[in-house]
Amino acid sequence: MAAGQYFISGKVFDAPALPPALYVVSTPIGNLKDITLRALETLAGADLILCEDTRTSAKLLNAYGIKTPKTALHEHNEVASAQNYVDEIKAGRSICLISDAGTPLISDPGFPLVRVAAEENFSVFAIPGASALLGGLAVSGLPTDSFSFFGFLPPKQQARAKRLEELAAKTETLVFYESPKRIAATLAAVAEVMGGDRKVVVARELTKKFETFYRGAACEMATDFDEMAVKGEIVLMVAGADQQAIADPDAWRGALKELLTELPLRGAVDQIASDFGLKRKQVYQAALEMRDG
Ligand code: SAM
Repeated sequence: MAAGQYFISGKVFDAPALPPALYVVSTPIGNLKDITLRALETLAGADLILCEDTRTSAKLLNAYGIKTPKTALHEHNEVASAQNYVDEIKAGRSICLISDAGTPLISDPGFPLVRVAAEENFSVFAIPGASALLGGLAVSGLPTDSFSFFGFLPPKQQARAKRLEELAAKTETLVFYESPKRIAATLAAVAEVMGGDRKVVVARELTKKFETFYRGAACEMATDFDEMAVKGEIVLMVAGADQQAIADPDAWRGALKELLTELPLRGAVDQIASDFGLKRKQVYQAALEMRDG
């Protein structure tokens, strides 16, 4: 194999010449076949590939016989080196940016480089493809007309609960990346902060051999995951808060007032927060005001 070529199932192809530019190339999120023909041509035709980790990307590049020189661009050197790479492109080189998996910049390095290139009005081309975020969302069964992506939640319990509280009233589908070590605790926090009935979907190992989807109410999923030894990569999706409840605060306040005549304060608060998808703190505050007249 020569530089400027790639192969698919042993058949060799020549990559067309590339104009000087920065190419942001998506790579697979597990299944090596999830790469586009344009991505292969671009990676094979470029002068240089910037990788998050050259050893990880070598597996993909070797699978398609791509011999383009590669170097590491990770979070420790990306700010310092961004201007240098833009200068190289100006001097006529074509440079690809890839990450370990999926689409660069989506919870992955590359932002400083793309920002410098964009600010200088320089050619930056997307070579789109796989992303765990969109793969998971598309098959979640949750609304996709409006969604927000928040990357990884803070790992520490208090900070994570605070972040979830900030997001509890959002009505669009919420998408997070999560580690298998923390998924059980995160599901418990979602149940606690956003209500046990809140629908959640966990997509594990998308496109890989042990791909699995788990769908259910946050409280049940928290219990299930607490009893599981979870492995693999995870996208967590949480249904948006009930729009009806948000649009009509009188509805939940009325229900709370009634329930306070039947249940102790904590029980009434838990039930209303869960039924209406509200922040527990917000309902607790209202319950205290009602109790104290
Ligand atoms: N840039 C990537 C993308 O476009 O999806 C994601 C990089 S981010 C550092 C890695 C996280 O993405 C993992 O910890 C996991 O939460 C999620 N992820 C990546 N591949 C996945 C897969 N095959 N199945 C489920 N989640 C995945």
